[in-house]
Amino acid sequence: MATILDGKKTAEKIRNGLAERIKGVKPGLAVVLVGNDPASVTYVASKEKACSEIGIFSEIHRLPESAKQQELISLVKKLSSESRIHGILVQLPLPPNVDKDEVIESIAVEKDVDGFTRLNMGGLASGRKCIFPCTPKGIIRLLDEYGIPIEGKNVVVIGRGQSVGKPLALMLINRSATVTVCHSKTKNLEDHAKKADILIAAVGKPDFITADMIKEGAVVIDVGINRINGRLCGDVDFESVKKKAGFITPVPGGVGPMTVAMLLENTVECFERSEHSKTNKN
Ligand code: NAP
Repeated sequence: MATILDGKKTAEKIRNGLAERIKGVKPGLAVVLVGNDPASVTYVASKEKACSEIGIFSEIHRLPESAKQQELISLVKKLSSESRIHGILVQLPLPPNVDKDEVIESIAVEKDVDGFTRLNMGGLASGRKCIFPCTPKGIIRLLDEYGIPIEGKNVVVIGRGQSVGKPLALMLINRSATVTVCHSKTKNLEDHAKKADILIAAVGKPDFITADMIKEGAVVIDVGINRINGRLCGDVDFESVKKKAGFITPVPGGVGPMTVAMLLENTVECFERSEHSKTNKN
């Protein structure tokens, strides 16, 4: 039976450490939320709560679904210039009439707590110091916290999305894993999955990974968030896979809380870099 990789407990430990680290100072996070997508509204509320619990100041800028691209860009640019704001997050997805990439590019690179700007993504690709996207960073931190080695391991990432699969694959390469990325056009996906020492599913399809697709003792990381009749589940058939895996993340309580903890950590790190550069100027 697999050991559960407890993201909730690990995230709590990280949050407690961050709360200590920012005692007496006030990092600030601005979140931009466009429209009323129910999942986005829930995510933003949980990020706001997480900030206030550890002492990060946060403000939510809510815009209607009809918001114009220029309006959004002006808001993000204004927030980028404000000294009390150290991190900016534009909650995705944005409405279809808005060019997401243009909005993301208007975030000051040093406040890009999601790590989605071209400069941060480019830094990641070239192995330079940059702000790492929260979900991939949280997955790697969870593996590290449980002492699961990455170097030299066969890691199979299923999903090549911009926010999880693609940056995660780069981060794993930077950690010297042998990485295979699968997607909707991959042939014989099961054959790839079965070779994985670490299998990571970021697809968005319930029960996509079943026990017959994994190697005995594999580490299985479930990134998916799916809702079936109001119940939350991941991409992994947890009940069958946990009997064969060596380690497994639950949904909820696995990658999700780690993502939020990494958002807080990225905000604190942006704050600290900004304070450091102020000191160096004086
Ligand atoms: P995305 O950008 O839509 O990417 C989904 C990926 O899955 C794509 O690369 C797609 O392939 C691939 N895919 C779809 N059907 C497939 C199939 N039948 N076989 C193989 N690959 C298939 O989504 P995302 O933003 O990466 O999110 C993925 C999941 O993670 C979602 O459930 C999302 O809610 C969840 N998520 C969770 C967290 C968290 O904190 N826990 C954070 C972010 C996202 P193509 O590229 O070929 O289309």
